[in-house]
Amino acid sequence: MPVDRRRLAELVDRERAHYRAERPTARRAHENARSLLGNVPMTWMRKWAGGFPPLLVSATGNRLIDADGHEYLDFALGDTGAMAGHSPAPVVAAVQQRMDTLGGITAMLPTEDAAAVGDELTRRFSVESWSFTLTATDANRWALRIARHLTRRPRILVFSYCYHGSVDETFVVRGEDDAARERPGNVGPAVDPATTSRVCEFNDLDALERELACGDVAAVLAEPALTNVGIVLPDADFHHGMRALCDQFGAMLLIDETHTWSAGPGGCTQAWGLDPDVVTIGKAIAGGIPIGAYGLRAGGADRLLRATDADLDDVGGIGGTLAGNALSLAATRACLTEVLTDDAFGPMIDRATEFRDGVQRAINASGVAWSITQLGARAEYRFASPAPRNGGESNAAQDDDLDEYFHLYLANRDILLTPFHNMALMCPATTRDDITMHTEVFTAALGELVG
Ligand code: PMP
Repeated sequence: MPVDRRRLAELVDRERAHYRAERPTARRAHENARSLLGNVPMTWMRKWAGGFPPLLVSATGNRLIDADGHEYLDFALGDTGAMAGHSPAPVVAAVQQRMDTLGGITAMLPTEDAAAVGDELTRRFSVESWSFTLTATDANRWALRIARHLTRRPRILVFSYCYHGSVDETFVVRGEDDAARERPGNVGPAVDPATTSRVCEFNDLDALERELACGDVAAVLAEPALTNVGIVLPDADFHHGMRALCDQFGAMLLIDETHTWSAGPGGCTQAWGLDPDVVTIGKAIAGGIPIGAYGLRAGGADRLLRATDADLDDVGGIGGTLAGNALSLAATRACLTEVLTDDAFGPMIDRATEFRDGVQRAINASGVAWSITQLGARAEYRFASPAPRNGGESNAAQDDDLDEYFHLYLANRDILLTPFHNMALMCPATTRDDITMHTEVFTAALGELVG
């Protein structure tokens, strides 16, 4: 059943007016924040529906309180940064111990936490040799440099409409002629990324083969499932085929688990038995404290350490003064061993299944041709059915008006979704009652839209 666009516009107007009226403090703070670029601390915060974001006061578990007195059920969870829940007690205790009792937030020295974190990441993601950054973006950047160094090849291959952080080479999409095109909106690129990158659609092994056969690709950088243009799951043979093609054409396979960690304790790498050369991750592993990490297979690490022309120790391009700091690693150790443990994922995934089923029931009952896709503890609905199979299709299914409607309708009823997505993420604190609350509000929103 098609959506009545006039009705949708009326509902968005109503919900926007309600949003603004209910948040006078946040609105004033936003208007007054003239010293901030775009009136926000980071320009993507303008993406929150309603014209200005709620003003955060406090957050614990999966609840968040704003300056206008709203208490939200938080499914955004900092777009995965807070997948452990907000301020989980073991992470807070570890951070306090490092800051107060021990001291030494950043001292350019290892602590015992560092190797313990490396061991735990190896147990989960199988690659043996880890290094730390402050963000997942930097983990990807440095991993790409290393891949170029090891393969002596210049180019990177990514999938159309991927997102791996603000990594220059990744802002390409597939043009109609299959050539790489600069992604629209790319802010001030140093060079046209089509000169550094190749691109094809996710789930298209023939296209991947065609591009890799050119012989100039150092690395394929891939999320195991796309999560930044809706969730796009891989076909059954895709990962096996991608690994085989990388081997055949001498490209390294970099798997970015930053979001797909939601699939289980060792992300998709463990859950699906993947065999990457490099794993990158960030966001949630320190329970909200900044960190990123990349892990290399032992063979690649040995070759890199033996390379006499790779300045890994000083100004060779793998940098970051605060990277590997003691505070981040204390938080990561606590998060991995006490919060997002092996046992934590089962209930989180069950909640996501309940979330998916609730949304699917509402979709079925209303007759709209939409879909919802789950990846472990994460679920996301798209205004298309069947669910898109690649980034191009999923991008074409984008509907900003419907996004705005659902985000506003939910926010006005104390539920937050990630602003860039219709994505809901579960944390250890998410309960069955929370899912019921979302199902009821989502069903009501859909009911008002299509009757
Ligand atoms: N990789 C993936 C898959 C991501 O989704 C993101 C951010 N959304 C990043 C890397 C970059 O993370 P950060 O912005 O924390 O550097």
